[in-house]
Amino acid sequence: MGWVSVPTQHAAYAERAARECVGTGAGAQGPGADTLCALAQAHPAPQGRYTMYRCQHCALEFADPMLSPPAAWYGALYGALPLYPADRWEYGQVLQALGPPDTVLDHGCGSGHFLGLAAGRVRRAIGIDFSPAGVAAVRRRGLEAHVAAEGAADGIALSEPASHITAFHVLEHLPRPAALFELARALGTPSVQLWVAVPSDRRPDRLSGEADDLDAPPHHLTRWTPRALQALGEREGWQLRALHHEPLPWRQCVWEVGRRSRPVAALLAANPWPRPLRRGLARLAALALWAWGRHPMDQASGFSMLARYTLNR
Ligand SMILES: [Zn+2]
Repeated sequence: MGWVSVPTQHAAYAERAARECVGTGAGAQGPGADTLCALAQAHPAPQGRYTMYRCQHCALEFADPMLSPPAAWYGALYGALPLYPADRWEYGQVLQALGPPDTVLDHGCGSGHFLGLAAGRVRRAIGIDFSPAGVAAVRRRGLEAHVAAEGAADGIALSEPASHITAFHVLEHLPRPAALFELARALGTPSVQLWVAVPSDRRPDRLSGEADDLDAPPHHLTRWTPRALQALGEREGWQLRALHHEPLPWRQCVWEVGRRSRPVAALLAANPWPRPLRRGLARLAALALWAWGRHPMDQASGFSMLARYTLNR
């Protein structure tokens, strides 16, 4: 399916960082230069590129090599880009299933947003993450968290097994995705529910065949489909009980259709109208297209899809 150049990806991330105006903004060599330097130093990548493949059976897309960047690389990227969301659709989905007797283990707890929400509902909430700095920050919030080495259960000894294990946007980063299922088996009760959220296969940019630099190596090593989630679970002894796609709000769906159409794109590019006016006109035009019956996005979802597994016994 082609290949992804690591220097090009780093440049794209640095450009994003400069655009978002957070973290390292303008360096000596221009906006984003500090971020670019930090990323390249942390993860030079052996061949400088990743080749992408797609499985003919389950449509999983995966990188060769399956090589994830080190913690320092994530530190540089997540320091420069606001990639830890305060809220996600899937948090609400999982929280509904939690109750006072539960022990929850959040794998990849990040800055601890979900952990904080879960802690108010369950008897015990525990986070694990690759990032020592992240774990320290979560602990400062008074929450329980541990550093996980390479996603393995080694070195993590819970005083009690977890009744729910969550992994929000972790699987697509792992060099060996099966490790997540092994960890859940090792640290969960026999009736544990495993919740796995990954980027949706029906995001508008995927349906349109557009590239998303953050949904590609080195950031994401894999791109999942429902069939691939089911297949890996089965191989590891887990049954996929449910899979839901995040809904795409109607207004946003209209916008996604509209901004990809030629007349709307032309409107958006038009000068010298101020940006709010251009966006307003683009939305109106998109709505007209929608009313016209041109809505190729009726299969589109929001950002995530959420899988729930139980152990096969
Ligand atoms: Zn496959």
